[in-house]
Amino acid sequence: MSITVGIPRALLYHEFGELWQNFFTNLGVPVNVSGATTKTVLDRGTFLAVDDSCLPLKLYLGHAEALIDGSSRLFVPRIACYHPGHFMCAKFAGLPDIVRNTFGLEDRQVIAPEVDGRRLFWRWRAIRAAAGGVGRSAIAGLASFRRAAAAWRERPVADGTDTAQVAVIGHSYILNDPFLGGDVIALLAARGVATVTPDEVPGRELYGEARRFDPAVHWQLSAKLAGATRYFARRPDIAGLVLVSCFGCGPDSLVNEYLEARVLKGCGKPYVVINLDEHTGRAGVATRVEAFWDLVGWRRRP
Ligand code: SF4
Repeated sequence: MSITVGIPRALLYHEFGELWQNFFTNLGVPVNVSGATTKTVLDRGTFLAVDDSCLPLKLYLGHAEALIDGSSRLFVPRIACYHPGHFMCAKFAGLPDIVRNTFGLEDRQVIAPEVDGRRLFWRWRAIRAAAGGVGRSAIAGLASFRRAAAAWRERPVADGTDTAQVAVIGHSYILNDPFLGGDVIALLAARGVATVTPDEVPGRELYGEARRFDPAVHWQLSAKLAGATRYFARRPDIAGLVLVSCFGCGPDSLVNEYLEARVLKGCGKPYVVINLDEHTGRAGVATRVEAFWDLVGWRRRP
């Protein structure tokens, strides 16, 4: 039976999706990516997930379910870290097990390489496991990865750093999903507001800023947001900050409180913290975004 790999359009697909897709395509393996997030996908994920799951995990399960019928394998990497010195939250470490248990899949149906960016050897091991999951050799996997990584490094990256008025800060899988935080960016764009997100700033800049926090921020994605908040709060051209989080995120619930108390309250700029959950309506988000932008306007008046 021919192999088709399904990749859920959720979580770190929003950062590495193109890399993953090209890796399998270079190996001659067809790839299915789930469609855009809809209310139905979110509702299905909410139904499938255990109650205390974070919103992005619920969404991930909704996307995974949409792929099961048309894919003989699901690609669900187990990610420990990809920026040395920090660790991903437990959801990423347990993701393949959560997917297998939720859908009753066999081990061979889930390609789950262990991604740990601390050592080159572990990267090699992850490539070998991913290639082996579709019946290809480690050597073929390495060649495919090299080509995919070269293309990925050359990809066009949005850069609003020179023109932005407002920084919108949140996890890539929240802001890059039009159904979630992408809505906040669209609402600001509709008012003619230019925005910038953490993904438009080099990672070394953000993690460098994060290193200055005391106590240190352990979780990798929270460190990125902490660094971004500090970085944008200091930039004179940024008139205000929007911190977007989602229900059920343990790291955000701790770190965002800290960022509000230690960075945002003292930065002298308007800010708003928006927490999304599966019941958040567009009207509620729009009201908060508009109130925030009005405040920015008042502050700017002479
Ligand atoms: S960092 Fe937060 S939102 Fe992201 S997977 Fe972990 S708990 Fe969920």
